[in-house]
Amino acid sequence: MGIAFLPPLFHRYNQTFFDQAIPYDQLCLGWSRRMSRAAGSYRRRGGLAAINLSLPVLSPLPTSATHSTLVHEMIHAWVDLVLHRRESHGPCFHAKMEDINGRRTGLTVSVRHRFPIPRTPASWQARCECCGTVTPYQRRVKGLACRACCRRLNGGRWDRRFLLRFERHPAGGQQDQASVG
Ligand SMILES: [Zn+2]
Ligand SMILES: [Zn+2]
Repeated sequence: MGIAFLPPLFHRYNQTFFDQAIPYDQLCLGWSRRMSRAAGSYRRRGGLAAINLSLPVLSPLPTSATHSTLVHEMIHAWVDLVLHRRESHGPCFHAKMEDINGRRTGLTVSVRHRFPIPRTPASWQARCECCGTVTPYQRRVKGLACRACCRRLNGGRWDRRFLLRFERHPAGGQQDQASVG
């Protein structure tokens, strides 16, 4: 339900919150089907910047999540393309975010959003024979040792005594959280 057509939203918020300063012609704006760990991202390579919103994370959520994620990424674009400042969630980002939130338009932007992300069943789980910890994994990883045991018993160095044993995940899937990039 959250699959909004983004350009009109962009223009509306660019007008309302940024005095139309964010240069739309330098931006590639769209949905990403593959991004599943974060709700949105802002990147720039050279002269071309991109805002991507995650379809798997945002489409099951109310449209307000799409709006606040878009504005979050627009603040990144504004800091980078308008202020020419190199920061991520730094002072310029925070000042703009507080300015926007203080206008009480009903839209709230935060530095980190927490959204449930769709269940992707983990195919594998790794068991530490030493401490018994079981961790779900999407794929097998060779030569992985239990970090906690290496730290506790071996001064943080890898040791084959603590190699994880991979086995098929019995059920699969853990509710996970995604954050805004
Ligand atoms: Zn362990
Ligand atoms: Zn961010």
